Amino acid sequence: MIWIIRCSDRRYRFNPSYQNGLKGILSAENIQNDYHDLRCFGAALGFVLNPGWAANQLKIAAHLGKKRFLIVDHMDCHAYPLEFGPLSTTNERRKHIEMLTKASALVRKHQPEITPIIYIQDGHRYEKIAV
Ligand SMILES: [Zn+2]
Repeated sequence: MIWIIRCSDRRYRFNPSYQNGLKGILSAENIQNDYHDLRCFGAALGFVLNPGWAANQLKIAAHLGKKRFLIVDHMDCHAYPLEFGPLSTTNERRKHIEMLTKASALVRKHQPEITPIIYIQDGHRYEKIAV
């Protein structure tokens, strides 16, 4: 079973575009509805800013036998300008990739048997980022 971390943003509950983007990612990774869902504001950013919490979550995931950890960031995330100030679309994307890469490094450091997989979602569109 896979473990997913994504933003707490309410658009995942109410915006069909966000829901369809997530469905596309799950389909691309061959995941049905059977996954553990960890949510925090900023997804990768929340993970990176709280490394102790992240390490604890990873320990639990490993205990539950998780082998893959899907980290999904989304564009127009309200958590990013709070941390980094106003960002152009290009710079926000850069910051997401930076935080996703750091979050992946945390996974490898604490639980090397879990494979991190990272995505950026922009509404219904999504992109897998190589790590
Ligand atoms: Zn967000």
